[in-house]
Amino acid sequence: MVIRGNEDADIAAKAGLDVAITNMRFPVSDLLTCGNQLCVKEWQQLWNQCTSNKLYSVQPVVGRSVSFSLGRYDSVLINRLRIGHTRLTNSYLLKGESQTVCEACHSPLTVKHILVDCTRYSAARQIIIFWSGHTQGRF
Ligand SMILES: [Zn+2]
Repeated sequence: MVIRGNEDADIAAKAGLDVAITNMRFPVSDLLTCGNQLCVKEWQQLWNQCTSNKLYSVQPVVGRSVSFSLGRYDSVLINRLRIGHTRLTNSYLLKGESQTVCEACHSPLTVKHILVDCTRYSAARQIIIFWSGHTQGRF
């Protein structure tokens, strides 16, 4: 996978090898920025090889965090929903039982199934979509 801008950065970095070394001073913050960018680039390359990891679809780009103005409790709830780890959907793992299935359609019970796929909750989803459209920008 090619990450836009990486090839340009690589070409610019290689061109820099031909530039004579000078005693020019620069702020440490510039070095830290470059170091951070290099780490994120390496991290992204590793993460791009993990496309079968279910968390890849949740956050394909590393280094970015979703920031809400939420308290800790609400942040934990949102993050658990994002990664699909809830007591309702994953407690079977701790109990050593088979995966819980949806009572309505007998599909594997996952957060995505409840929030996106299950027809049982489609009316509730439409209501939420309707009201979130009306309240958008009012929070
Ligand atoms: Zn269902």
